[in-house]
Amino acid sequence: SPSTCITTFAILTSSNISKKFLNPIYIIKENAKLIEKGKYNKIKEVKTNTYELNELSLTIKELAIKLDEQESLRKRMSTDIAHELRTPIATIQSHIEAFMDGVWQPDVEKLGIVHGEITRLTNLIKELSDLSIIESDEIVLNKSLVHLSHLLEKTLLSFEPLFMNKGIHLYKKIQNDVQIIGDETLLQRVFINILTNAYKYTNDNGTIKVNLDNIDGHIRIIIEDSGIGIPQEDLKYIFERFYRSDLSRNRVTGGTGIGLTITKALVEAHNGQITIESQEGKGTKVIIELNEKFL
Ligand code: ADP
Repeated sequence: SPSTCITTFAILTSSNISKKFLNPIYIIKENAKLIEKGKYNKIKEVKTNTYELNELSLTIKELAIKLDEQESLRKRMSTDIAHELRTPIATIQSHIEAFMDGVWQPDVEKLGIVHGEITRLTNLIKELSDLSIIESDEIVLNKSLVHLSHLLEKTLLSFEPLFMNKGIHLYKKIQNDVQIIGDETLLQRVFINILTNAYKYTNDNGTIKVNLDNIDGHIRIIIEDSGIGIPQEDLKYIFERFYRSDLSRNRVTGGTGIGLTITKALVEAHNGQITIESQEGKGTKVIIELNEKFL
């Protein structure tokens, strides 16, 4: 009868419509399940003309990509930490065993090596804990009016013996009376980290130039060295934790690749910006821009 026909038609269409509408929802649900199981690359494509469903599926896909990236970063981080810890501990262990077996006399030189490795471990642990503070919460700034020119001069003064030992020439052009509201200790950490790098990666008798000026409230600090430089392909990773260019890995400077990660976070906590320009074999230029009235 016509009425049965209509009913059947209605049921068929509505089930078709609901199928068309529900299918993508099922797939989205499955995708969410896949994320829960950590199978980020098994995410299925969702085909739908419904705008909201399309948005939802895209958001879930982005979530999967983000989580996947974070997981590989985390894995790399544990491998890197394990590696960084293993080397100094192995050195300490072999030295102590040699002392105990009487193979070696614990003379100043050998004890110096052990001491150096322990210092390296201590630094690593300190940097790791700084990193976790920076990555867990917002950085808490202990704000006050900071005399940036004095702070920079004072920090440079503490580096002078190091520079002198390496025959590094320091050229500075520091505008007087540059001030900013910020965290003095953390701003000094920024200076120390960058100057330490400039010192480490500059060869004997090289030069380091330090500039500070304030132009219409726009504060700029430039620390430029004539050191080994950073290869072009490494530049974009330089702020990532544990990243060290091969050039610096080959050196015995014993860095951890955490310093710049922390430095960037500290500059950004002051609403500032840090950029690095570099040329392999020529040198590196670190530029920090801050705003006099950021707070
Ligand atoms: P590290 O403890 O290894 O110095 P950083 O995070 O401070 O860690 O720096 C990361 C990497 O960036 C360094 O290992 C080095 O490869 C490169 N780098 C940083 N500053 C300089 C510089 N002034 N000259 C050359 N390379 C640098």
